Amino acid sequence: MNLRLADRMENAINPFISDILRATARKDLISFGGGLPNPASFPVREISEAAQKVLSEDGAGALQYSTAEGYPPLRELIAARYQKRFGITVDPADILMTTGSQQGLDLLAKLFLNKGDDLLIERPGYLGAIQAFNIYQPNYHAVPLRKDGADTDVLEEILKSCSPKLFYAVPNFQNPSGLTYSEQNRKRVAELMKKSGTIFVEDDPYGELRFAGSEMPCMKSFLGEDVIMLGTFSKIISPAIRLGWVCAKPEIMKYLVAAKQAADIHSDYFAERVVCQYLQDNDLDAHIEKIRTMYQERKNCMVEMARRYFPQDVSFTDPEGGMFMWVTLPEGMSAVELNKIAAEKNVAFVPGDPFYVGERNVNTFRMSYTNSDANVIEKGIRCLGDAMREMTAS
Ligand code: PMP
Repeated sequence: MNLRLADRMENAINPFISDILRATARKDLISFGGGLPNPASFPVREISEAAQKVLSEDGAGALQYSTAEGYPPLRELIAARYQKRFGITVDPADILMTTGSQQGLDLLAKLFLNKGDDLLIERPGYLGAIQAFNIYQPNYHAVPLRKDGADTDVLEEILKSCSPKLFYAVPNFQNPSGLTYSEQNRKRVAELMKKSGTIFVEDDPYGELRFAGSEMPCMKSFLGEDVIMLGTFSKIISPAIRLGWVCAKPEIMKYLVAAKQAADIHSDYFAERVVCQYLQDNDLDAHIEKIRTMYQERKNCMVEMARRYFPQDVSFTDPEGGMFMWVTLPEGMSAVELNKIAAEKNVAFVPGDPFYVGERNVNTFRMSYTNSDANVIEKGIRCLGDAMREMTAS
């Protein structure tokens, strides 16, 4: 039978993405592929205590339906954290709890994107956002990333010929590149957003995982209301709990709430209560400090090993936080091809292709350092260096 699906599903399935993600999850591999937090960082005992407390003190209440916006005390804690981190005032009423920040991406696309609407995205960009946006069939404009952030010359050129509604970006320890926008770059991007009337969507799942350098101002501090912020507990507490949030001005929030209600009524209320209890009873900063130390050691090791084992003409980023390192092979070399040779040596990474819109066989790839110990990182990077040399020799 002809399924007669909606036109929007045309580019929804990308078998390439499913294949490579499946390949990076093989149990027998040294995997630098998946972007998974290190499970040793999960606060298992503390979450168990918080869940028990919620159940014993207000079990029936915590198991009931709730409001679309989410549990008010949790949204107050999130607003207070913005104040503490950046000195900005966020009204808890402007925060909507979502099922991971991934749902925030889907809701925003639903709210803003008609088929063919111009949309700015980083090059490379977060593949989960590309997947979410593809269903709404935007007309992408890719803004290349440089060492210090978005290429504002290209951005300025793009803005001369079209009027995008949104610029979706990850200014801190970006997925996949690990790059961070400098303060000057943020200011220039903000100027261009203001001038063109583009809303900046600031996705920040990794910002708290800074292990070097100093905290950057958030885009909201330059743009005020004309920013939509996305946040998540996935990388600082647990991704299984699926709790994220969107912060937007009231005119946008009322539509977000309508879309959220339509999608799933509200986020997991029990999870909201448990996370709120966890935050009230524990020192989140101390917990995050442990994660930072854990990731910094691994990142340092990966950079050191890449310097030792990768050929001279291969370059890579040296992130100041987050979970990812981005590798650039010499011009013309395909990371997909390298991935095949590496798989025979039981090493996995994510080739760059799914992080680009409309480009294939790129010479870049993503490696996550969060989940491997030093000896595994050394072994994996040595094998990758060998695979690179084999590829150039053949
Ligand atoms: N944005 C970015 C940039 C991410 O890297 C991720 C997770 N990989 C997400 C959003 C989604 O995270 P979650 O839905 O778990 O909050």
